Amino acid sequence: KLHNEVQELKGNIRVYCRIRPFLRGQKEKQSVVEYIGENGELIIVNPSKQGKEGRRSFKFNKVYNPAATQDIQPLIQSVLDGYNVCIFAYGQTGSGKTYTMTGPDKATEENWGVNYRALNDIFRISQTRVNTFTYEITVQMMEIYNEQVRDLLSSDGSPRKYPFIYCMTISDLHITCIWVTVFLDLHTLGIVSAPQPNGLAVPEASMHTVNKTSDVLNLMDIGLRNRARGSTAMNERSSRSHSVVTIHVRGMDIKSGSSMRSSLHLVDLAGSERVDRSEVTGDRLKEAQHINKSLSALGDVIYALAQKNAHVPYRNSKLTQVLQISLGGQAKTLMFVHLNPEVGSHSENTSTLKFAERAS
Ligand code: ADP
Ligand code: MG
Repeated sequence: KLHNEVQELKGNIRVYCRIRPFLRGQKEKQSVVEYIGENGELIIVNPSKQGKEGRRSFKFNKVYNPAATQDIQPLIQSVLDGYNVCIFAYGQTGSGKTYTMTGPDKATEENWGVNYRALNDIFRISQTRVNTFTYEITVQMMEIYNEQVRDLLSSDGSPRKYPFIYCMTISDLHITCIWVTVFLDLHTLGIVSAPQPNGLAVPEASMHTVNKTSDVLNLMDIGLRNRARGSTAMNERSSRSHSVVTIHVRGMDIKSGSSMRSSLHLVDLAGSERVDRSEVTGDRLKEAQHINKSLSALGDVIYALAQKNAHVPYRNSKLTQVLQISLGGQAKTLMFVHLNPEVGSHSENTSTLKFAERAS
């Protein structure tokens, strides 16, 4: 089944749309979704407009109806075959991004979100190849907030700020120089651990070797706890930062000795809702501007890739820099866009669908 899924992938970008069910206790039952087809067709209605006017149809690679289970098996074999893969969740706050990526609880396997399933699959598939391949799997977990990367698995969970981040746009040569200098300095001072011999890793975040699914579950627990720490209201903060879990895989063919390297990025994006500029000031305005900037930078990158443009503007945000190796080239990208069923979410749903349309 997994194999078919990889073969089915024509372009390198796939868009899945998921519609959240009404929540328990919600009185409203009239959904904005009018039709979901077998092959990814979706029709939504705008209740304030009559007839044809109020209907819009879309086509995705797949549409998950509100009753869909968590059993989503995305592209994991590709990672073990040497492809870089990026899976991300897009949508307004409350549309189900974290539900898709993490799931409501990790105690029951059927509730697991994409993150746990992906890792579980990596271990499961690598076990079936144990006689032909050895795999080394390491994990990073970080949060991007106001264009700064915070390592969620560092021992103190504190934000790390590196000057080189600000030099990224000058020139590639320049970055390398500053990058190396800063790294050596911090390394000498014992502030960061030694750089990993892995060209795919983000140097700001620590690397952790994992050998089984439970190692990963434990690490993610730590990451989620660290994410909550340092912010007064967790939901507030987590909806305004991007969380990125990266799994690095190094595989070696036992017979030939040849090796390969790949990575899987699992991204729970900041809420895409528009913030009314007239209503927010200070820190909230700054946050909103950073989110806006990074989500549009991501949209621009995906658009450029979908159009097969020669120039892909990775440098415009920290998010797209971090994800660069997993977007474009041979990499496979899977985007889950999330919709709310409530009539009142029409304009946010429309902006989510516009984002998704640009990618496909
Ligand atoms: P987001 O991360 O986009 O802000 P959440 O994942 O936190 O949204 O979802 C908001 C609420 O809706 C949560 O209470 C979550 O449990 C619930 N929810 C989201 N998606 C589903 C789903 N597919 N089935 C059942 N409940 C869901
Ligand atoms: Mg969330």
